[in-house]
Amino acid sequence: MGYRGSGGEPPPPNNGGGGQFKKPPYFFGEKVKGQKGPELKRISAFKVGVGQKDVPVVGLDLKLDYAVRLHPRFKAAGMHGNYAVCISKTESRGCPLDAALNEEGGRWFLVGTVIDRSKWSPPNPSAKNKGKVWTDSRRLLLIPRNQVDEIEGVVQKVGGFRGAKFLVTRKSEQISSRIGTTWWPDGKMTEEQMKGAFEKAAANYGLPVEKYIQPFDYDTILKGKPFEVLQKIAQEIVADASVVADDAEAGGGDDGDGEPIEAGEDAAESPVSYG
Ligand SMILES: [Zn+2]
Repeated sequence: MGYRGSGGEPPPPNNGGGGQFKKPPYFFGEKVKGQKGPELKRISAFKVGVGQKDVPVVGLDLKLDYAVRLHPRFKAAGMHGNYAVCISKTESRGCPLDAALNEEGGRWFLVGTVIDRSKWSPPNPSAKNKGKVWTDSRRLLLIPRNQVDEIEGVVQKVGGFRGAKFLVTRKSEQISSRIGTTWWPDGKMTEEQMKGAFEKAAANYGLPVEKYIQPFDYDTILKGKPFEVLQKIAQEIVADASVVADDAEAGGGDDGDGEPIEAGEDAAESPVSYG
């Protein structure tokens, strides 16, 4: 087009120009039957905003009895909010991410699945998603060790997790727990009520509602990546860390809220295809 200077031709408008926003490359996913064929759907961890009150959620697990060790929300390939399973307990050569992240043995979580009934819109919607609102999103619940006793106590009081409704509130401190600091019981839904309430969300997601109201298949979605793959990711982490030396502070640290992009927060918007 005859532009002078080193800029050359203009880049395509989507490239850094807002609109679609980038997603961290390492995430948990599940296969669903998409409109254009099978898709790998990005699974988001349940998260409550700092200071948010009474976020309505519904539990799906019959019993909370699955534990995992993770490296949550690490920075790699220039992006925050990546997740990987720590393989230190299952791989004789150890887990390559432990040293790269200085997170020996990963972090332990009790795992569950919830339907997050809050309403959500993408922060930078693409044209086709402008004005769209998602709700009843299926989320991976990662309960940190120090909240297990309290949440198990509440679950016991309401007679089980499945169908149990909670209003979740998070304290206003940045470092407060991402899954909320108070889980207030708010009644229970029957199987029929869940089917009715989540039918639309299930259809949007690409699963029959019977499947949508079941917990994620943890053995599949939380299967650790092979050692060699994690070794490559570890190299990316180390390379990133050396480029932006002060990033640890900017990133908000442990359970803070500082990372600009949450893993798969725009999950509903654009599934990753595989095939
Ligand atoms: Zn590890």
